[in-house]
Amino acid sequence: MTKKYSAAQLRATVAAVLAKAGSSPAESRTVADNLVLANLSGHDSHGVGMLPRYVDAVLEGGLTPNASIEVKLDGGCLLALDGRRGYGQVVGEQAMALAMTRAQEAGSCVMALANAHHLGRIGHFAEMAVERGLVSIHFVNVQSRPVVAPFGGGDGRYGTNPFCVGIPLPGQPPFLLDFATSRVAQGKMRVAHNEGRQVEPGYLIDEKGQPTTNPGVVVVPQPGGMFGALLAFGEHKGYGMAVACELLGGALTGSGTWHRPADDKRAVINGMFTILVDPRKLGTQDSFASEALAFVEWLRQSPPGAGSEGVMLAGEPERKARRQREIEGIAIDDQTWSEIVTAGARVGAEVD
Ligand code: NAD
Repeated sequence: MTKKYSAAQLRATVAAVLAKAGSSPAESRTVADNLVLANLSGHDSHGVGMLPRYVDAVLEGGLTPNASIEVKLDGGCLLALDGRRGYGQVVGEQAMALAMTRAQEAGSCVMALANAHHLGRIGHFAEMAVERGLVSIHFVNVQSRPVVAPFGGGDGRYGTNPFCVGIPLPGQPPFLLDFATSRVAQGKMRVAHNEGRQVEPGYLIDEKGQPTTNPGVVVVPQPGGMFGALLAFGEHKGYGMAVACELLGGALTGSGTWHRPADDKRAVINGMFTILVDPRKLGTQDSFASEALAFVEWLRQSPPGAGSEGVMLAGEPERKARRQREIEGIAIDDQTWSEIVTAGARVGAEVD
């Protein structure tokens, strides 16, 4: 069963729970806005359903409310920052604000952010940059349970390591590609499990390394306390990209890589390696504008393929979902809602 909630209702509920879990009013609002925007964008995996996990992580000491970034190295347009296990929605925005200023001054900036707690939708940070006319590229690793199997492997060894690129298009909404390098995001398996759904073949292996359509294998412990694993998207290519995310987002940022058995800690630590470029400063501004727009137009002229409504550009599905869900509300399944109620109770917040 699901029930629909307005974005405003959800923002208020999430912010109230976060405040009881120790966040300042500003931090509570920022995190709540970010989670609800993920729901509005159609990515329920990164929406309000994350709140119980955040509360658990705070209570365990793995997530630190009201933390700010620490600048470890300031080389002008080369930045090494530490998120100090603060809310990713907050330290991620702080890190991007600094890096964007530098990219606007110098034309580019490379920013390494270590030890952010869950950054949520990485597209949010690319959206910040494209709003300022900047190209934004992100390689991110995830330190929580190793839930994705390497290509050719039979168990989980790393996280859903997202990759994202945002490209501003003159006079048009931006190109915004933002995805997990697993076939699907882990949170989408949680949502499917909570809704009692099976998923498509080819997404998952069980705890014995066998193919399965049961999302529960990566959500709840299987016999012997073992978990199954997600498979990489695009076989060896997606796997290779995930390794690049681990090496850049995890190792190069100083955040750390995953190389140990699963534990039961609830914190989700992201490292994010970011490259920002200002196309206005590269000297190719005119050809960038004309060639990018000509190419996008060329793509759109492709006739709809069988069973398709036509070509879309990355970023369009999220914008369409936002328009629809702002009006129709956001559906939350009963299981997710009861987890939110329980999380609220753990910190003394009453959720209806
Ligand atoms: P997904 O499989 O839905 O892919 C989303 C991307 O594909 C978007 O850029 C979207 O615009 C584009 N897209 C979708 N349909 C399209 C179409 N028909 N034509 C053209 N483009 C299309 O996303 P996902 O892999 O499930 O990831 C969901 C979210 O999870 C992302 O925002 C990602 O950043 C986030 N994530 C975060 C973490 C973390 O630790 N912080 C980890 C994994 C994923």
